[in-house]
Amino acid sequence: MTFITEVVIEDGVTSIGDSAFFYFSNLTSVTIPNSVTSIGDMAFYYCSNLTSVTIPNSVTSIGDFAFCMCSNLTSVTIPNSVTSIGAFAFCYCNNLTSVTIPNSVTSIGDYAFYCMGLTNVYYCGSYDDWKDIDISDIGIFYLTDATVYYNSHSWDEGAVTTEPTCTEEGVMTYTCTVCGDTYTEAIPATGRHSWDEGTVTTDPTCTEEGVMTYTCTVCGDTYTEAVPATGISDFDTTDDSTSSSTSDSSSSSASDAETSGVETGDSTSLTLWAALAGISLLAMATILATRRRFSHKK
Ligand SMILES: [Zn+2]
Ligand SMILES: [Zn+2]
Repeated sequence: MTFITEVVIEDGVTSIGDSAFFYFSNLTSVTIPNSVTSIGDMAFYYCSNLTSVTIPNSVTSIGDFAFCMCSNLTSVTIPNSVTSIGAFAFCYCNNLTSVTIPNSVTSIGDYAFYCMGLTNVYYCGSYDDWKDIDISDIGIFYLTDATVYYNSHSWDEGAVTTEPTCTEEGVMTYTCTVCGDTYTEAIPATGRHSWDEGTVTTDPTCTEEGVMTYTCTVCGDTYTEAVPATGISDFDTTDDSTSSSTSDSSSSSASDAETSGVETGDSTSLTLWAALAGISLLAMATILATRRRFSHKK
């Protein structure tokens, strides 16, 4: 045995030789780079303190007894690159309760998973794929004692591959971290349009409502809102706007004309008053005169 607790295998190493870490019983962590394509026979035999190991997605074969007696491993994921798992590869890993196996695996050696605690086997392939794996009657012994879950993928958290818009659904893609299979789910359209500031498409008049049209900058959808009729006060404003260029210069003369108009109006009304008073006096005089004449006749 050794006292080494941690091993980091340099990137570029292509294979872990036979018995490379044989009986490294203090080893708690091992990092295997994804340049490694094969793990030799008894490579990690009796690494009893190893609680987890990540086999990179480059390894194609796991040797005989490779992880045998690694009694603290609790779960193992075989990557999609592996085609063969050697005899006794994980035997006596008695704390191993779950194993994930991709459908790339074509052969599993005798007693490969001779593990007392194994209860769950997650298999990416179908039942038919499973039947096609070359497993001897002995090799299958503990594997089939566990529950094998077919078509059981290890989906990741998913990634948005198409962003939803206000009206169009988006796409969320989930990928199996073991075999790379994917499935997609629709992301509901957001329903939230990105309305612009709106443009007046019909001008309001003093009595008729106008129309304000808002357009979604993403999908081009529109909606309209009524613009209130301008009313009488607004009528003046429109009058001003039409004569705005001349109103400044003519305003003084206009007010002059107004004041003079008031003066003339006053004087005419006075003369009218005088005239009316004169007429009524005349009328009264004539009435009195005629009465006198009548009375005179009597
Ligand atoms: Zn899968
Ligand atoms: Zn929209």
